[in-house]
Amino acid sequence: MLEELYQSVKEKNPAQPEFHQAVEEVLESLEPVIEKHPEYRSAKILERLVEPERLIMFRVPWLDDKGEIQVNRGYRIEMNSAIGPYKGGLRFHPSVNLGILKFLAFEQVFKNALTTIPMGGGKGGADFDPKGKSDMEVMKFCQSFMSELFRHIGPNTDVPAGDIGVGGREIGFMFGQYKKLRNEWAGVLTGKALQYGGSLIRPEATGYGAVYFGEEMLKTRGDSYAGKICLVSGSGNVAQYTTEKINLLGGKVVTLSDSSGYIYDEAGIDADKLAFVMELKNVRRGRISEYAEKYPGAVYTPRDNALDYNPLWAHKADCAFPSATQNEISAKDAQTMVNNGIILVSEGANMPTVPEGVNIFVENKVLYGPGKAANAGGVATSGLEMAQNAIFSSWSREEVDTKLHNIMISIHKQAYDAAEFYGQPGNYVLGANAAGFRKVADAMMAQGVV
Ligand code: NAP
Repeated sequence: MLEELYQSVKEKNPAQPEFHQAVEEVLESLEPVIEKHPEYRSAKILERLVEPERLIMFRVPWLDDKGEIQVNRGYRIEMNSAIGPYKGGLRFHPSVNLGILKFLAFEQVFKNALTTIPMGGGKGGADFDPKGKSDMEVMKFCQSFMSELFRHIGPNTDVPAGDIGVGGREIGFMFGQYKKLRNEWAGVLTGKALQYGGSLIRPEATGYGAVYFGEEMLKTRGDSYAGKICLVSGSGNVAQYTTEKINLLGGKVVTLSDSSGYIYDEAGIDADKLAFVMELKNVRRGRISEYAEKYPGAVYTPRDNALDYNPLWAHKADCAFPSATQNEISAKDAQTMVNNGIILVSEGANMPTVPEGVNIFVENKVLYGPGKAANAGGVATSGLEMAQNAIFSSWSREEVDTKLHNIMISIHKQAYDAAEFYGQPGNYVLGANAAGFRKVADAMMAQGVV
């Protein structure tokens, strides 16, 4: 029966492979849930969940530094508001298209339901590439983007945040434009700087959260990070704070990457080296290859598109934290990692493992934390930022970190318990999907056919 629905999603949404992939994974793992709760089928909950409540697409024209007109395409997917205002990041990357944003918005609905905070699911962005653009060009783009988006969002309607290519700089420019157009200060974006309503720990939250989630998984086997070798991909926001937290908990990170290649540093990326990476990526906006120039003990390997695997994942390690982008772990990578004795994979990125790879991890009893549970700390802390904005107050670093930590413990417990309840203990894919789904489904049932 769910197969029929999946086929209809494919037919209705052609050329959106990432969206198909995300829907298929959820439908597959929800089978035991639907068996126990046929009322969700008759209420057509799944049919409603795969259809965005609203989809906004718009032209984003802007002037580059040479005075030439550039045109990009902007999007906001308002996927589901059953349990709270739409919430999810904005991604600026040349690969952005409708299918990618719909997959992200769909995942976001379940993820947000797990956070314990009332937030619906959304996602947006543009096919704009901030790489190589001046600050002025980025500002002009952000202002033009917000000149349309502002009419669709609001602190009780839709609250975007950052994602790939959207960090503090971009959020600041968009927030300024929203405020100008609305003549109102509102907590309408999260990931803001501290001076104007941001929350302490929001930059750290996704990375820290993925490490906390991994820690909970390790605890189920009486284990910890002490002495563990860890692979991290990416070198942006999530990768940086994942590395920081692993270091603090006694593990050793030996890899980082960007879209041009990766570095392997057997000695470990300690706090000083991480400070160099943060300056390189967040201030100078350089390439990760420079790490190997600065630290001769490290080896840089440029990306080779001819390979059918990613050599970063072939290094022997105990734990892996994919923190770059979708589908960055192939089935071959997953098999190599299992052969090398990997015990834990905690996904900072969204859907970084292809479905066959996920099956390999689950079948081999790897502690596998899917993105919608493991990286939910970012959006959860965005929820905490919204709460602070709503009460015109701000909490201390320790307070927010403790709340984040407790939320990650709760998300782990929800996923762990649901997996056990539906007869597949340790299967966090089933557990996260089932727990997130039930919360949203029950809210939709209560609210009638809307
Ligand atoms: P970011 O700061 O922009 O960093 C992204 C990193 O991934 C960069 O090192 C980038 O390299 C690399 N990357 C991006 N696209 C790539 C591609 N197609 N192939 C190879 N490498 C690529 O973004 P982020 O916020 O860390 O996000 C990383 C992942 O975490 C994404 O999947 C995002 O959806 C997910 N996530 C983020 C948050 C959050 O709070 N930020 C929350 C939940 C999930 P280049 O610099 O070369 O592009």
